[in-house]
Amino acid sequence: MSDSYESARRRMVETVAPRVDDDRVLEALESVPRHAFVPPDRRDSAYADCPLPIGDGQTISAPHMVAVMADLLAVEPGDTVLEIGTGCGYHAAVTAELVGDEHVYSVEYGETLARRARDRLTELGYDGVSVRVGDGREGWAEHAPYDAAYVTCATPALPAAVVEQVRPGGQLIAPVGTGQQTLVDATKQADGSIERTERGGVRFVRLRG
Ligand code: SAH
Repeated sequence: MSDSYESARRRMVETVAPRVDDDRVLEALESVPRHAFVPPDRRDSAYADCPLPIGDGQTISAPHMVAVMADLLAVEPGDTVLEIGTGCGYHAAVTAELVGDEHVYSVEYGETLARRARDRLTELGYDGVSVRVGDGREGWAEHAPYDAAYVTCATPALPAAVVEQVRPGGQLIAPVGTGQQTLVDATKQADGSIERTERGGVRFVRLRG
């Protein structure tokens, strides 16, 4: 069984590879067992390039979306990263592969999702990832400044506190919009302003709270 997961994962990586510049992102996707993050009855679809339900009305993003966001985030080992929307913890694990698990801080609104994600991350060896229950619009001030931050639920605008907690020169990625959503790729400037590039239409679950 694990053999077939591995070959399915390899095919998934080949599928998303044309959208990704940084080979390290592909290596990260190759390393994280996505099937272990999805509900047992969805494991057969774990390596299809599509979103999957993870409980509490939420979904894990399609692998290509995680890959594209990780590529845009352009983090290096040792960078400190803030994630808003832990969900099942899959995307956090991919980020952990890129920066080291102890450099990943993630905020999740749903208590049950947060607890399950924390347990799963620990079981799979990503025990350094920190998960907090709360409203991600407030970010996580205690560990700021971050080298980069990303949001995994659609937000009407880049949350001000999250922008505040990223260092000048740092990167922010978020699906922005209430109806139509756009993936916004932003860099915080030395004067605190934001320079943004739009990376196309996307569909994420809505920010809660
Ligand atoms: N990165 C996740 C994707 C989960 S979907 C993964 O790999 O599974 C988006 C997540 O954002 C959901 O778990 C949802 O509960 C969470 N979310 C929604 N609104 C939020 C808020 N205000 N603060 C923190 N998390 C929020």
